[in-house]
Amino acid sequence: MGIIYRPEGRAQEYSWLALNIYKGCGHGCVYCYVPKLTHNEKKFFIEQSVRNDVLEQLRKEAPKFAGTNERVLLCFTCDPYQQLDAETRTTREVIKILSEFDVPFQILTKGGTWAVRDFEFYGPHDAFGTTMTFLDADKSRKHEPHAALPQDRFDAIKAAKKAGIETWVSLEPVIDAKESLEIIRQTHEHVDLFRIGKLNHESSNINWRNFGQQAIELCREFGTDYYVKHDLAQYLSGISFCSIDKRKVKREGKAEKTGANQSLFQGKGPSPIVNALSRMPKD
Ligand code: SF4
Repeated sequence: MGIIYRPEGRAQEYSWLALNIYKGCGHGCVYCYVPKLTHNEKKFFIEQSVRNDVLEQLRKEAPKFAGTNERVLLCFTCDPYQQLDAETRTTREVIKILSEFDVPFQILTKGGTWAVRDFEFYGPHDAFGTTMTFLDADKSRKHEPHAALPQDRFDAIKAAKKAGIETWVSLEPVIDAKESLEIIRQTHEHVDLFRIGKLNHESSNINWRNFGQQAIELCREFGTDYYVKHDLAQYLSGISFCSIDKRKVKREGKAEKTGANQSLFQGKGPSPIVNALSRMPKD
């Protein structure tokens, strides 16, 4: 598998392409499922390292993706702006190489304003995203002990928007439905897309149908694009909604084979596309 790879299963809902810069993650989120996924449960939160030859490999592979309309997600199995990045600054180098070869990327981080210093390398097709689980700093510390606090993540989104960068917020996992809804209310002016999910690997007494309906209504009220993840969409049968797919970018003068930035599915409940995603192998 190359350093830029095609995620399988539900991970495809976020991105057709991805690149993982680090092994392990120092943010230590209590809900993190990656250690199990990567069979690295003992060391994942304790030992982090830069993936072997990541920059050299990327330099070799990036030309193959030059001019693609599929965004590369940084990262699925780690945070690109975790503590180790403060020492190595590898994410900055990765972004510079992707930009050099015109490979569009989207960041997903809980690193907050640490990411802002790299905004200067973003091109018109790149996007900045953060996961927001809480507004309350104490709750965030309890669940994501070493990640940036919610206000700092929000500040990073604001800075990206101000810099003209497309922004998105991942509302997943949803641990406290009220907080997630409040995040939409308080941040929507600075957010181009909310990706709305649920809590998947633990039990919860949240009424997902109510939560999903309220989240969609808020996005509609504020006129903000949203994408409802399949795990949540399956609770919304009979509710009309329209998800926006931003996994691809539109390039001037280049015909789109599939609908970049178009509605991924519309209407009542999961569409054929969502159903197709549900048949893919689970990640
Ligand atoms: S930031 Fe992501 S990869 Fe890192 S510990 Fe938290 S959930 Fe896991």
